[in-house]
Amino acid sequence: MAVTMQTPLARVLGPKTATGMADQLGLHTVRDLLRHYPRRYARRGEMARLDDLQKGDRVTILAQVKSVNTRKMRQRHGTITEVTVGDGAGSMKLVFFNSRHARLVHGAWGLFAGTVGSYGGSLQFTHPDCHLLDDDTGDDEWARALVPIYPASKDISSWVIQKSVKLLLDASGGLGELVVDPLPDEIRARHNLLSLPAALLDIHRPITFDDVERASHRLKWDEALTLQLTLAARRRAAALEPGTARPRRTGGLLDAVDAALPFELTDGQRAVGEELAAELDREQPMHRLLQGEVGSGKTVVALRAMAQVVDAGGQAALLAPTEVLAAQHARGIRELLGPLGRAGELDGAADGTRVTLLTGSLKAAARREARAEVADGRAGIVVGTHALLQEGVEFADLGLVVVDEQHRFGVEQRDALRAKGSRPPHVLVMTATPIPRTVAMTVYGDLEISTLRQLPSGRGGVSSSVVPVAEKPLWLDRAWERVREEVAAGRQAYIVCPRIGDVTGPDDEPEDADGAPPDGGSDDRRPPLAVLDVAEMLTAGPLRGLRLDVLHGRLSPEDKESRMRAFAAREIDVLVATTVVEVGVDVPNATVMVVMDADRFGVSQLHQLRGRVARGRHAGLCLLVTDARVASSTGQRLASVAATSDGFELARLDLETRREGDVLGAAQSGRRSGIRLLSLLEDEELIATARAEATALLATERGLADHPGLAAEVAALATDERAEWLEKA
Ligand code: ADP
Ligand code: MG
Repeated sequence: MAVTMQTPLARVLGPKTATGMADQLGLHTVRDLLRHYPRRYARRGEMARLDDLQKGDRVTILAQVKSVNTRKMRQRHGTITEVTVGDGAGSMKLVFFNSRHARLVHGAWGLFAGTVGSYGGSLQFTHPDCHLLDDDTGDDEWARALVPIYPASKDISSWVIQKSVKLLLDASGGLGELVVDPLPDEIRARHNLLSLPAALLDIHRPITFDDVERASHRLKWDEALTLQLTLAARRRAAALEPGTARPRRTGGLLDAVDAALPFELTDGQRAVGEELAAELDREQPMHRLLQGEVGSGKTVVALRAMAQVVDAGGQAALLAPTEVLAAQHARGIRELLGPLGRAGELDGAADGTRVTLLTGSLKAAARREARAEVADGRAGIVVGTHALLQEGVEFADLGLVVVDEQHRFGVEQRDALRAKGSRPPHVLVMTATPIPRTVAMTVYGDLEISTLRQLPSGRGGVSSSVVPVAEKPLWLDRAWERVREEVAAGRQAYIVCPRIGDVTGPDDEPEDADGAPPDGGSDDRRPPLAVLDVAEMLTAGPLRGLRLDVLHGRLSPEDKESRMRAFAAREIDVLVATTVVEVGVDVPNATVMVVMDADRFGVSQLHQLRGRVARGRHAGLCLLVTDARVASSTGQRLASVAATSDGFELARLDLETRREGDVLGAAQSGRRSGIRLLSLLEDEELIATARAEATALLATERGLADHPGLAAEVAALATDERAEWLEKA
């Protein structure tokens, strides 16, 4: 039977093993198994490091059984088995109660994994995971210096995987016949890469860590190149799709917007504006990401692009992640446009347009009216939430899609809105979460990127401090005093809490997935502080007499909107809120933010939150209140947020403290994009090089025609349902 990469594992392995691999690890074919790389490698000499082990370390050791001693326990019913293991350099005890591995006998070698405990002064494992190494495999496995440890599952241990891989490697005589290298020779030579069979062999049975290094470098290359080829192909395809040019026209809405602006545009806003104006004027649809610090003034840049499109006869849609933000955008744009935004109304300008707000909370009649305005083209500017994406929302002539706070949306949503144009509209996505270069090259690899680095001048800036209540309880009193002082000076404050409160149960989850802290809420902590409790406590105590109100996701949209409006009108001094105020909310008179349980928020989220109090000419203050100890890793993370105002720096820190999948969002996580080894954090250079090679490969007339192997890899990624997100745009 000829084995190929596509051969089902069931034909190569025993049925029980094959079923377990399919069900528990998602491995179906020979290719899947060969691409299931070890998580790490245990070294024979690892026992030598026994002296370094600390109680609480979670480790795997490779050792030989020296003695086994089973006896009855004195105090309790049952037996205790103590197994002493060592490799000559050190020794430790394995302890089992009422059970023991049948093959744990004198002289046996095994891998033992567990958390180091101590008893009577010496280190031990209690009920460690044991992988006894077979005598009959004896040969080279044993002589080898490195033992691969695979991601395993309940029934399929690392050891079973190792044996299965070995079976494949042995049967195929070193993989030379089985594996065809898709990488063109000249690329391999240029970057000094191992062949694919050699790399696969070395990743599964290395002799030294150098072998692992070289093998994984080559395998990362495959991942990076396939991904970049896919993205480059998408960019090319997008470039070929004809859209509609929306040239700039003088004397229209755009000029009116410019005349109405109460400030001068910054140089950055002007430069990006030129870039957008030129791209909108082309038939080839724009695909651009605008990233800019919180408060850098992205909205006005987007509005000017929208006005240009309206002037050219098209419609522009602005998609916002929350109702609060959508309403704020609509309000702001209407104010700015004045009569020009009220065409068709009594006091409206005849040559103006309409700004239509379309959100899920509109009553049926209002929604029908809004949809009608969108469908017949009366609405030149349509602002909305997810409700915009729904079926039944039709545009007369959608020319530009703007997605605000892109990190809250998936590629799918961007595409759903794009699809509402009869021809592909121009697309501008905006984010205040700065994107590390590697993420930009992968997740956003099909977008061109513009950056606003400069904040409008005359901003007061924000200073941040950590308030570690466990160590400095008095600082919290001082924090409330600061709030009172700011209010006395005519300013306003936000108090942010991780939870709404009052009811317990599923309703009281954090308001969105981003609310989960990076290092997980371990359950022995008290529940996070809640808006309703904190508001009550403040009203009765430290902030008594101030005008205080609450804002959270459980309020009706009308309530949310009216409270935001009241806050903007300075009828409320202190707003106690959840992260509903995180994105985009713009009240320049607010100068203090106190974040309660700050450790429950992610780094980028704190930066976003803090952006709410950096929006006017007054100096802002952000206080991060936490129970965490200053010296703990959590305390240090908060200290970095307080010390850094550079969003790019913080995005990197965020990437370090969270799993990459979380950063990219579930729909964009590694598995789906075929990424196993590649690290967005560490492989920046490799990704950039692969991107250049991918672009060069596709730039020629023949594309991948001369490289069928690569074309097949790209096709495999594209048809893989796990890569669905990549195909869509
Ligand atoms: P973000 O980029 O975070 O979305 P916004 O677009 O909400 O920021 O702008 C933040 C605030 O700065 C708003 O109040 C806006 O009116 C104001 N702003 C924007 N551009 C300028 C400018 N060039 N000069 C002064 N203020 C500006
Ligand atoms: Mg914004």
